[in-house]
Amino acid sequence: METQEQDLVVTLKYDRMTHRYAKVSLPHPLSVCLRITDVCNRTCYHCCSGPSGNIGKTRDLKRLMTTIRKAGTPRLNITGGEPFTHPDIEGLLEYAVELGFGVSVTTSGDRVTERHVIFMGTRQIKPDVSLDGPDDKINRALRGNGSFDRVMEVASQCREHSVPFILNCTIQQHNLLHVDALATLGKQLLAKKITFIVIRPQGRAKSLPEILLSDDDIRVLHEKVELHRKTWTIGVMDLRKQPRSFVVVEPNGDIIAQSHDEYVTVGNALRDGTEFREVWADPEKFDHKSHLLHFVT
Ligand code: SF4
Repeated sequence: METQEQDLVVTLKYDRMTHRYAKVSLPHPLSVCLRITDVCNRTCYHCCSGPSGNIGKTRDLKRLMTTIRKAGTPRLNITGGEPFTHPDIEGLLEYAVELGFGVSVTTSGDRVTERHVIFMGTRQIKPDVSLDGPDDKINRALRGNGSFDRVMEVASQCREHSVPFILNCTIQQHNLLHVDALATLGKQLLAKKITFIVIRPQGRAKSLPEILLSDDDIRVLHEKVELHRKTWTIGVMDLRKQPRSFVVVEPNGDIIAQSHDEYVTVGNALRDGTEFREVWADPEKFDHKSHLLHFVT
């Protein structure tokens, strides 16, 4: 198994009728989210993941990682639910690193110990820590008791052990006003980057249309972010204009094409070793241009 990222070959298909480069073709996804478990110890009311209680078996998850890596995918985001509730989290992270992935893990921080932080640091695994409010009161209202202090503790441990971390903030009606304060806090915490994620009508959030952002709200979000971008690495993840752009693999092997408001099963990577590649190559299932834009904007 290779340990270095492969050079990326992007094919641009030229349309003679319109004189435009109409299609982008990528040989493999640039990154895949692998949900190793649906279980989470929190019950954030706006959760887009919609925990259902499935825990991936270590053997199946390793098979999935091998398939995704063999297809050429350079980066793997381990996600959930809460990944650190998985009983074999360290073994799975270790395996992903051995396969040669650049690995990140999305976490609330609740179950992350200092030992985990050191473990991740020595393997160049990047923690993406979720924080939705700039102080205890606001974050508690959105994510529950103790959530703010936990993130502060993990951030402190990451600084102490020189582990670069990212803050992921899901932005919805109840924290749109706090974007500036979140950005300022992220800088103070010395996060490597802060990503504002536009809430998607998926999971529990699907039944809460009142917390979704309007076009005007998203314009405001972008304006705020532009100001902070002058001094810091900060981004917006907005799937509305990038349909079928995210590749998610479920604990049972289901391959998901994710859009802003859709979460569609397009295959299963455990059923057949070649299905992952075939599904990725099908332009009806994944939009390569939208996928690429996540990594260049
Ligand atoms: S948003 Fe994250 S921490 Fe909250 S319930 Fe969902 S998976 Fe758990």
